Amino acid sequence: MKNIAVMGSTGSIGTQTLEIIRKHRDELSAVALTANSSIDEIEAQAREFMPKVVAMYDKDSAEELSRRLADTGITVLSGMDGLMEAATISEADIVLTAMVGMIGIRPTIAAIKAGKDIALANKETLVCAGHIIMPLIKEHGVSLYPVDSEHSAIFQSLHGEDKEAVERIILTASGGPFRTKTYEELCTMKAEDALKHPNWSMGRKITIDSATLVNKGLEVMEACHLFGVGLDDIEVVIHPQSIIHSAVLYRDGAIMAQMGCPDMKLPIQYALFYPKRPYLDVKRVDLVELSSMTFERPDPERFKGFKYAYEAARAGGSMPTVYNAANERAVALFLDGKISFTDIARLIKCAMDTVTTVPDPSVDEILEAERSAVAAVDANVI
Ligand code: NAD
Ligand code: MG
Repeated sequence: MKNIAVMGSTGSIGTQTLEIIRKHRDELSAVALTANSSIDEIEAQAREFMPKVVAMYDKDSAEELSRRLADTGITVLSGMDGLMEAATISEADIVLTAMVGMIGIRPTIAAIKAGKDIALANKETLVCAGHIIMPLIKEHGVSLYPVDSEHSAIFQSLHGEDKEAVERIILTASGGPFRTKTYEELCTMKAEDALKHPNWSMGRKITIDSATLVNKGLEVMEACHLFGVGLDDIEVVIHPQSIIHSAVLYRDGAIMAQMGCPDMKLPIQYALFYPKRPYLDVKRVDLVELSSMTFERPDPERFKGFKYAYEAARAGGSMPTVYNAANERAVALFLDGKISFTDIARLIKCAMDTVTTVPDPSVDEILEAERSAVAAVDANVI
């Protein structure tokens, strides 16, 4: 039996993780569930999966949930302390991190220090704190399994191969719903347009990140940390059909790629069962029906958020945090209808130009950089 702490259990990745646990009751069990404030959803999950603990970040929601779950014997925790406790409970073998944003940093670090394996969906954590997390993974002898579909595809394409023989990583991107729009058209796009992703059904924040290509920028940084490669070792290729989820080019010219219909259950299940591949009821790719796959280069001038990711990664230190935190803030403002679509990249750049960055930031310095970036974004909203 593998016991799992599901952090962010009410989200897109979280609910798909629970679907997999539900299908494998004899092998997997959810021992902790966490969310921000979705009480109804997490109450239903708690009653179905009967975890040892449930943690809500929002304290009022935790109080209400505690009243509702009084008959169950489930412990209800709250706040950051509650998330940290849920991520480190002794019963958990593996922690699946699927909360959205930088809130994931401290629980992930705590889980590693408690000797838990990590199934990582929460890419913002690695972008901001990869320089802390990757050495900790080694130090504590735990395993890190990528859940992000591209990184899972790379991980699968590296399986059983000699790392020394890798020439380049090929990271694919769908290009999002605005792939063919001109810059002028992008300026007028609204949240409801951006939330219509052509291939993937995901949480709201990552769907916007996908439309700006900031998601791809974050994924390039995530890949650098996960696979110990440099920016120039990664080629980003737009592949609108989202069938090749990423690939590895080897020095003999061979490309190993992982293909499949776009469905996050595959990478989630691979992370939980690695290296086994149990049956999964997802749509199969019919190559003849698909008939063709196309590829193009990303355009960093229309999708400036993608270009700024490279600037942030090259600057290093706390700059990726400034990039990420400014993006988180700007996306929230965009979803609230307060700024335009192209303002997202503009505000990221404003924050990168004004916040002083530090090399090799500690967790406190990362959180300080986050506050400064948010303030810089707020100061530049027109
Ligand atoms: P989502 O918005 O659907 O769900 C987010 C979850 O985090 C919810 O359970 C929510 O309650 C919780 N949460 C939000 N704020 C919180 C807070 N302050 N404290 C505690 N919990 C909080 O998001 P998602 O699409 O499932 O994405 C989750 C993570 O996985 C993100 O980092 C995203 O980039 C990454 N990811 C998602 C997908 C996908 O297909 N959805 C693919 C690859 C990577
Ligand atoms: Mg991805």
